[in-house]
Amino acid sequence: MSTREPPVWFHQGRSCIWPPYSQTKTAELPVPVARSCGSRLFTTDGRELVDGIASWWTAVHGYNHPHITSCISAQLEKMPHVMLGGVAHEQAFRLASRLAGLAPGDLNHVFFSDSGSVAVEVAMKMAVQYWCNRGNPERSRFISFYGGYHGDTFATMSVCDPDEGMHRIFSNAIQSQYVRPLPETEEEYTSLLDFASSRNDIAGVLIEPLLQGAGGMHVHDMDVLKRLRELCSKLDIFLLFDEIFTGFGRTGSVFASNKADVVPDILVAGKALTGGFLPLAATIASERIYKGFYSDCPDHALMHGPTFMGNAMCCAAANASLDLFEQEPRLDQVARIEKELRSALEPLRQLSPVRDVRVLGAMGAVELEKPLPPALLKKRFLELGVFIRPLARCIYLTPAYTIEREELHQLTDAITTVVEEQDRPG
Ligand SMILES: *Cc1c(COP(=O)(O)O)cnc(C)c1O
Repeated sequence: MSTREPPVWFHQGRSCIWPPYSQTKTAELPVPVARSCGSRLFTTDGRELVDGIASWWTAVHGYNHPHITSCISAQLEKMPHVMLGGVAHEQAFRLASRLAGLAPGDLNHVFFSDSGSVAVEVAMKMAVQYWCNRGNPERSRFISFYGGYHGDTFATMSVCDPDEGMHRIFSNAIQSQYVRPLPETEEEYTSLLDFASSRNDIAGVLIEPLLQGAGGMHVHDMDVLKRLRELCSKLDIFLLFDEIFTGFGRTGSVFASNKADVVPDILVAGKALTGGFLPLAATIASERIYKGFYSDCPDHALMHGPTFMGNAMCCAAANASLDLFEQEPRLDQVARIEKELRSALEPLRQLSPVRDVRVLGAMGAVELEKPLPPALLKKRFLELGVFIRPLARCIYLTPAYTIEREELHQLTDAITTVVEEQDRPG
């Protein structure tokens, strides 16, 4: 391992840049990365790290995939960006029709934005305005679930888990929603149904299907989604799936909706949409939602329009990423990763520091009884040649689907080493 000093830009920028989710006074120094390739990050001081997180689970084809790189370059030469207001361009239009084809049921109407949080806000806005347009303005609130994470903006904070989340401080500033336990049993379902039936102010139910990600990597059964579909249909409210984490293969099928065979009224995609190259998100609505805006009344239009919506390079990256899902065996790779994560991580369940092990598709999580000091973990993982960034007491892997077998083993071995070290302290 080299001991070379970080570069000048690192020292100059460090006090100017405000990093995400960090107490800057005590946070560990970030790792200066010079370049990326496949599942690896190369640091400025000459180290090579196997990346277990794939940049918040976005880089599903690995970094620098040549097909995505060349499609973005080609688009860059032609036209980097034009606004979507009053203008049409091929990349956005092609992407919209491809997403409509991939999304289940009659989810055929695609609204682009540039981040997941905004795309969830757009979904919430669609649901609320649908009811307004129909003469039910009282239907303006959402049911969401403990353990959920839907973004960091004000409306999305209101539907995150208020305790697990990072947003407790804002409780006085955000709209109150109905955050409830996931209906995993018949009794919980009945209780939720009773609750929802007793209110007339609910616009819809919002959930991350099958896998709640940033709130702690919690996995639930498909029955939860089937029950929620039933509940929403019965009460005639909307079911909103936030597939920003689960979309594009993470749970083993293109969308978790496909795997669970449940069709929501609105599906939100982001994160891996561009294969981790550029920021882009999509809110995909059903015929019924779309028709609720389609009228002779200008006030019935959806009043939203991010400046960079449908950016041509972002859409070119997403189209290229979808090409790769068609041309390369991504879902088979996810199935292989699932098998390997299961056999490598399940045995850790026996160790005393471990509370639970959860694997679904290309996601493996080891939840500890108590969190380990992040500084210690980070240092140990770097020593072991891997980049892994736990969420509180949850050490998880969301690797690229193209990760080599040996690289995946290096990641699971590193987790095993760290957990075993805690099992026999001193
Ligand atoms: C990351 C994430 C978001 C927020 O997306 P941003 O692009 O960070 O705004 C919302 N929902 C889920 C499930 C996510 O994983």
